[in-house]
Amino acid sequence: MNYQVFVGDIMKLTFLGTGGGRFTTISQKRMTGGFRIDEFAGKNIHVDPGPGALVRSHEFGLDPKDLNVLFISHAHTDHYNDGEILIESMTQGMTKKRGLVIGSKTVFERYKQWGPCISKYHKTKPDLFMLFRDQTLKFDGFIIKGTRTSHGDPTGVGFQLKSKDLTVSYTSDTGYFPDLHRYHEGADILIASVLRPGKKSIKCHMSTDDFKSLVSEVKPKIAIMTHFGLKMIQSIPEQEAKKIETQTGVVTLAASDGMTINVPDKDPSNFKVEQLKKK
Ligand SMILES: [Zn+2]
Ligand SMILES: [Zn+2]
Repeated sequence: MNYQVFVGDIMKLTFLGTGGGRFTTISQKRMTGGFRIDEFAGKNIHVDPGPGALVRSHEFGLDPKDLNVLFISHAHTDHYNDGEILIESMTQGMTKKRGLVIGSKTVFERYKQWGPCISKYHKTKPDLFMLFRDQTLKFDGFIIKGTRTSHGDPTGVGFQLKSKDLTVSYTSDTGYFPDLHRYHEGADILIASVLRPGKKSIKCHMSTDDFKSLVSEVKPKIAIMTHFGLKMIQSIPEQEAKKIETQTGVVTLAASDGMTINVPDKDPSNFKVEQLKKK
């Protein structure tokens, strides 16, 4: 297996899945492996490893042993399913004390009917950090701040990552609420779970119209939609993204399985998009 080596980019995003919700996940109409943020302040981060995260990493040429950080936003299977095997990858088969797992309370502990998502055994080798909204963790070369969600798992958390060069925000699964933009202010790149098309909001998830409101409030340099439910897939996410771009003036992309976005310098508008082929 030949793995990708990144040279010269200050960040590379790779979508190992753009499906979300139970029915897209069960049917695998879109993949559900979450996404990787590579070379962010020199670190490789896997975000929300749903079913297939390990397999899709290999298929798209990313080495799961190269991970430094695993982020799991909440205790729904489309976000945590492959978490334990990625911990095994990050710790070289649980032989080394290595890596950091950041997640909601329910990733590490039981809370009401939620979690834990990882076993005691899998907690023994990596460093662990339970992230709450508004809480900040300084890590080698970057800062991560927990952002609020309004979702089924009450401990669910998104993030804002800041390095000296770039700020990347991820809403995770959340319904739209009037304060949401405050958590993502200052994002150069805003990644969001947008489950439904048009106005079709459901409790605890954003629709295209909700995301349009958030994009116009945050005004990132690039907005990226992912985590599509079946209705969104039928509506063609690229067309939904185009509507947001036309109405807000912000470059808006609908992620696709295997899409990579390379940011070569401090100006994210110089990004390059590439579609990886499965190996
Ligand atoms: Zn989800
Ligand atoms: Zn969820």
